[in-house]
Amino acid sequence: MRFVVAHHNPVSCERWRNALARELPDAEVFIWNDGETREADYAIAWAAPSAAFFARQKRLKAFFSTGAGVEKLLASSFMPAELPVVRLEDAGMGNQMATYCVGAALQWIRQGEEYAEHQRAKAWQPLPRVDLADWPIGVFGLGVLGQQVAHAFAAVGFTVNGYSRSPHSMPGIRSFAESGGEGDFDAFLSATRVLVILAPLTPQTLDRFDRDELGNLAPRSYVINVARGELLVDEALLALLDSGHLAGAALDVFRQEPLPPEHRFWMHPKIRVTPHISAITVIEPSARQVAQKVRSLERGEAISGVVERKRGY
Ligand code: NAP
Repeated sequence: MRFVVAHHNPVSCERWRNALARELPDAEVFIWNDGETREADYAIAWAAPSAAFFARQKRLKAFFSTGAGVEKLLASSFMPAELPVVRLEDAGMGNQMATYCVGAALQWIRQGEEYAEHQRAKAWQPLPRVDLADWPIGVFGLGVLGQQVAHAFAAVGFTVNGYSRSPHSMPGIRSFAESGGEGDFDAFLSATRVLVILAPLTPQTLDRFDRDELGNLAPRSYVINVARGELLVDEALLALLDSGHLAGAALDVFRQEPLPPEHRFWMHPKIRVTPHISAITVIEPSARQVAQKVRSLERGEAISGVVERKRGY
């Protein structure tokens, strides 16, 4: 069996090649270059490789993603329509995502920003006690990562609402769903004071959080975007932060990455920016997961994580 690694970053390419070679000792694992003549059975990358790659790699049985989101792979016109695309499922990302989101929320809710200012002013000034009941969390996207984030908030004592395409039954989490109609989305938003955006980028989620939708959040709400920048309309977020309807935002993902130096998000006093690090792919457990799935496919067994092309995730 042959496995081709086509990650755009040469250092990651090496690390993936080495990890996959360890996990699949019987396979020939190699890094793609335009002069390559070998045909592989499986491929892995973050974004879709060039037309030359697909012109050569005609016998692929599956294309694996080095991440959980696959919009960049699906956006390629070179990716054959019938080739199964398989995404990472957790593989060490869930815990990172949960700690990022809970940490960001607690920094606001437990008045971390105010106390940091007080310290700078050497002010011994207790603020009113915080009641978590005043801070219902809304997780948009209850998938592999969203469910772990929802459980982490619930474990700390928050009231947690979740929203997804289909209803989910999760102990301690109130589930709203697209199948419940537009009323369900409005009810989810108005019941939320910390919105966590954690659904994939698809034609249905593009620009989903515009001025109207963000305006439906309870006054003085916070927004955490750890999904993709395109789910959130930048100007709408800025306008609602400036008007005071929203109290703050923690943004890990952006329409353009790296975030351009002139973008207002960098300097906005109510926005915290991180460089797409809320859940970083951990190569070793991810390679183990990919190898397990390859072995299942070779035995003719079904695997999870296969992207449904029509729905976009
Ligand atoms: P997943 O398991 O596929 O879950 C996706 C969830 O979103 C599901 O609950 C799905 O609903 C819901 N959803 C999809 N379309 C929707 C819509 N139109 N309206 C409402 N809900 C919708 O994905 P995951 O592994 O949790 O990852 C989620 C996303 O996180 C990825 O796609 C990626 O973009 C992002 N991510 C970011 C980072 C980072 O470092 N910032 C790292 C990893 C992943 P159903 O349950 O009904 O299917």
